[in-house]
Amino acid sequence: MRVAVLGAGVVGVSTAWQLLKDGHDVILVDRGQEAANFSSHANAGCVGAGFAMAWGSPRAFTTMRRSLRRRDHIVRLRPTLSPEFWRWVRRFRRECTAERAAANTTAMARLCAYSQGVLRDVIDETRVEFNRRADGLIYFFRDGENLARASAASQFMEDAGVRIEDVDGARVRALLGVSGNDDITGGLLAPEDESGDARLFTLALAERCREAGADIRLGTNVDQLIIEGGRVVAAQTSGGRIEADAFVVCLGVFSQALLRPLLRPFGLDLPIYPVKGYSATFPVRRDDSPPAIGGVDIDRGLAFAPFGDRLRMTRTLHFDGYRTSFRPSDFRKLYATARLAFPTGADYGQPTCWAGLRPMTPTGMPIIDRTPIDGLWLNAGQGNFGWTMAAGSARLLADLLATGETALPRTGLELAPA
Ligand SMILES: Cc1cc2nc3c(=O)[nH]c(=O)nc-3n(C[C@H](O)[C@H](O)[C@H](O)COP(=O)(O)OP(=O)(O)OC[C@H]3O[C@@H](n4cnc5c(N)ncnc54)[C@H](O)[C@@H]3O)c2cc1C
Repeated sequence: MRVAVLGAGVVGVSTAWQLLKDGHDVILVDRGQEAANFSSHANAGCVGAGFAMAWGSPRAFTTMRRSLRRRDHIVRLRPTLSPEFWRWVRRFRRECTAERAAANTTAMARLCAYSQGVLRDVIDETRVEFNRRADGLIYFFRDGENLARASAASQFMEDAGVRIEDVDGARVRALLGVSGNDDITGGLLAPEDESGDARLFTLALAERCREAGADIRLGTNVDQLIIEGGRVVAAQTSGGRIEADAFVVCLGVFSQALLRPLLRPFGLDLPIYPVKGYSATFPVRRDDSPPAIGGVDIDRGLAFAPFGDRLRMTRTLHFDGYRTSFRPSDFRKLYATARLAFPTGADYGQPTCWAGLRPMTPTGMPIIDRTPIDGLWLNAGQGNFGWTMAAGSARLLADLLATGETALPRTGLELAPA
């Protein structure tokens, strides 16, 4: 079958790879000049199932309300009248019961763990290099109550097949290889979690796709899909018309813009909303001592991963529409937190700054499904776990397209009525 994959972020390129493995002819289209030019460009680098917690919980709205008062809060919210935002909030509110939080967290952890296995296969098949570290991630706490809550919730991860070890503050410091930080009370170690640079992975895998015969069209904007007789027959692009038997939309936060007019007549809507995050990458000098493994300083909202001679750190969940702009002040708290946690971790005077958008659904689960339009498929909305979920999401999509059967239950992954 000739399949056009729209979007060459980590999800689109991973999807292209799985489809090529299944023997399809693949065309991969992206408007950027290279793969991983948008949300997959400079994320935190954590391939982690160990803390795959759904955002929706009975405490979520209290956190959001608090964020309105403080500019440096982990969650930031720019007040908006955007109907798209308020539609998303209405659906998110439904996910904020204890029952929905448990179900969503279990489903997310299961997909993350499955995806880690598929990613390991992809690495074995392709030998791609991306500053990978496969020695676990540490999720640590300074607040004892938060640690106790997270430790109880880690049962959901374990039920989903994720290995978690409770560790005390001294062990956290030893794992990180840092001194100071005496206020760390303890943490959760996920020994099978990994880290690595998603952009390098995506670029290298795109190259393997090209070698395996994919027709990769960069600098090509998809303007619209052409439907004839209830079937998608072509994509109208800035580089002309692209015809295929199937089209898989992997456009991250932009999936909604392309699909909304097509899905509306069916009473369907894509509940994917952008949530901005800020990332800084610092050079590591010879005498610096970066954290030995990646992880998250949970109470300070700082995610980090060592990439050889670079240290990547990210912070903040900012509801700021589709803006990717940033100001120096957006990073002030990140720098301060980084210096506090890892005083000699890197050259903090030389940051490379970036802001990206997480394609968030209200449940935290992506939508991996066929649409009511023949030949039109969807693999988008991996949210704050898109790097972790990409390989597994790609395999699920390829299996669904080939056989209608998938290795994981379909519940939570379907396109649902608006
Ligand atoms: C600060 C931050 C930290 C994060 N940390 C982590 C982490 O540690 N671990 C983790 O698992 N996840 C993390 N994530 C989430 C992860 O980065 C995303 O979920 C993931 O990159 C989404 O990938 P994608 O391929 O769906 O989207 P994208 O990478 O955005 O790819 C979509 C592609 O579609 C293209 N496109 C869009 N519209 C069109 C069009 N009309 N025509 C042609 N091309 C188009 C874009 O150019 C883009 O390349 C983080 C995200 C952020 C912002």
